[in-house]
Amino acid sequence: MRDPRFDILFEPVKLGPVTARNRFYQTPHCNGMGNLRPQAHAAMRGVKAEGGWAVINTEHCSVHPTGDLMPEVLQMLWDDGDIPPLARMVEAVHAHDALAGVQLAYPAYYNGNRLTREVPLGPMDRPVSGYHPVQVRAMDKADIKALLGWWKAAAVRARKAGFDVLNVDGNFSTIAFQFISPRNQRTDEYGGSLKNRVRLLKELIEVTREGGGDACAVSVRLIIDELFGPEGLRAADEGIEAIGHLAELPDLWDLVVGTWADDSPTSRFAKENDHEPFMVGIKSVTTKPVVGVGRFTSPDTMAGLIRRGVLDMIGAARPSIADPFLPKKIEEGRYEDIRECIGCNICVSSHFAMTNLRCTQNPTMGEEWRRGWHPEKIAAKTSDSSILVVGAGPSGLECARALGQRGYKVTLAEREKYLGGRVTLEGKLPGLAEWQRVRDWRVTQLHKLSNVDIYMGSDLSAGDVRDFGADHIVLATGSRWRADGVGRATHRPLAFSAAIPVFTPDDIMQGNMPQGDVMLYDDDHYYMGAVIAEKLVQAGCRVTLVTPAADVSAFTVNTLENIRTAKRLHELGVTMITHRVLTGTNAHTVRLADARTGDVHEHRAQAVVLVTARLPNSTLYDELAASAQDGGLCPGVSRIGDCEAPAAIFAAVYSGHRFAQEFEDASPVLRRERIDLAAREEYRYV
Ligand code: ADP
Ligand code: SF4
Repeated sequence: MRDPRFDILFEPVKLGPVTARNRFYQTPHCNGMGNLRPQAHAAMRGVKAEGGWAVINTEHCSVHPTGDLMPEVLQMLWDDGDIPPLARMVEAVHAHDALAGVQLAYPAYYNGNRLTREVPLGPMDRPVSGYHPVQVRAMDKADIKALLGWWKAAAVRARKAGFDVLNVDGNFSTIAFQFISPRNQRTDEYGGSLKNRVRLLKELIEVTREGGGDACAVSVRLIIDELFGPEGLRAADEGIEAIGHLAELPDLWDLVVGTWADDSPTSRFAKENDHEPFMVGIKSVTTKPVVGVGRFTSPDTMAGLIRRGVLDMIGAARPSIADPFLPKKIEEGRYEDIRECIGCNICVSSHFAMTNLRCTQNPTMGEEWRRGWHPEKIAAKTSDSSILVVGAGPSGLECARALGQRGYKVTLAEREKYLGGRVTLEGKLPGLAEWQRVRDWRVTQLHKLSNVDIYMGSDLSAGDVRDFGADHIVLATGSRWRADGVGRATHRPLAFSAAIPVFTPDDIMQGNMPQGDVMLYDDDHYYMGAVIAEKLVQAGCRVTLVTPAADVSAFTVNTLENIRTAKRLHELGVTMITHRVLTGTNAHTVRLADARTGDVHEHRAQAVVLVTARLPNSTLYDELAASAQDGGLCPGVSRIGDCEAPAAIFAAVYSGHRFAQEFEDASPVLRRERIDLAAREEYRYV
């Protein structure tokens, strides 16, 4: 039963002509499926509607070819031919009685019209963001008039697609905000005073209303604080005032802060509900419902925000990805079943990779249509087979959990006296505590399954495994960090002098720490190098972080962490050196070579920490294979997760889940969406 203090979350909210059944609002989010994989996209949104979200939004939907979003995989409503893929999503959402929203967008500075080759239009003449060698042309009055027409036509199409909520996007990457920002230096009635700068947003709201007619609500997604210092819009100066200018025009205000990196910070850098300070005062300038985000997973935090009058709806992208059934679970009082987002932003990285959305906590995300996976349901077992899973890291835990959910008899054996493997160890590193949720959710679920037995402190040998007599053996024995220097930039083991001890992240995580001047060599490029550097500083070391890449923690540009990482390391006094490859050590110095020119550099250090690559813990597999009768193949033995091929945690969880899904399934599905060559109908955009 639900606690009555959460009843407030299940009150309906009127949004102009439509009513949201509760206060759970899935804010727009990218997903790498978009209009290239519309059936996958629709199924993903539909599962969230099934999970209880009252409003489900698309991601950015371009209104016109002069505001092309490609190559990012998003949506478009350029002509009527774009309606059917979006109508598919609307159907999937309506099938579960939720409202469907579309995020109408026009990127201006944010994109260079790489697909359409149209000249990009924006408030002023200036280069597009990033390094694309294209400039935006400043819009004249005729351009603005044309934009309003295009926008209205897209709104009409959105209505035809069946959307209930039409969102005017005023996010960092779209035109309305680029006009509102004090950085807009136009001298006509669309620049200068705040009243002038909000004029375009006002007109966009009006044409959206006209296009949507009586049937559709109009929402606005707007930045209230640009986090760009005195040059940008600040909540206290003009942010709240901007909302005041348009207070009652839309039916809902959906408010965000800064760029995507500020709006979706990882748990390393921000906790739940970090935007609340920016929301104070908004309810005094508008009577319309307000939605905000903050990686909300705690029902208490959510109910508190509503009760205190800060928000009217709980906005969520990542929590809805990690657990599409979050609202249902709160509604049914199943709080411990909520699969809480860990704030890693692997989901964000799939947008940049332009592939189906993926999530560390929810391995079914993005696989709803193409593999037929569901976040809560799984096919029942097809036999009475028993399975022994060796290793209780993220892959072993997920594999045992999902096999157990299917009804199989499962035994999970773990060498250590704790569960969780690498997430338990890594979760103790600076900033990574929330990652332990990967373990905690799975352990909670496993304890509910009477058909799964867990043995800790069980270091199994090949003989033990064979003697156990399970019908199938799954090895999830993980991996270890290399200590020989081999990584992306280095292909053969390096020669290290005995005078400079070498450490790996495994040493640091086990408390075996270097001292003094430490050179940390990061050829892994994800979070581990920077996090270990932070740990070393905490332990009193003076750290120089060296990487062959052009940026520190280069992969984290995809998780929106690279700038914050560099800032934190700088604040901690870590010296950062890029473009350098480690080539070995001498008696007292470390040898580095410039990654571009080959120039050799020598640095003094008392210890080296190698964060380069990992090796699978495959001894058990090799021993079982060696004793197998057919000379190598290991019948009935499988490897999953890092033990098969080391990767990030999301890959280990996925690997464990996939094994369980496909166990004793002779023909697992992988559906693809193909371009329909038969479609020859021509549409014209105006
Ligand atoms: P993954 O990310 O693939 O899940 P981890 O390294 O997190 O891998 O977890 C592997 C787990 O397997 C660790 O907890 C480790 O203690 C355990 N393990 C490794 N070898 C054995 C073994 N022979 N018997 C039991 N447990 C093992
Ligand atoms: Fe949360 Fe990470 Fe999943 Fe994204 S990938 S929803 S941040 S757990």
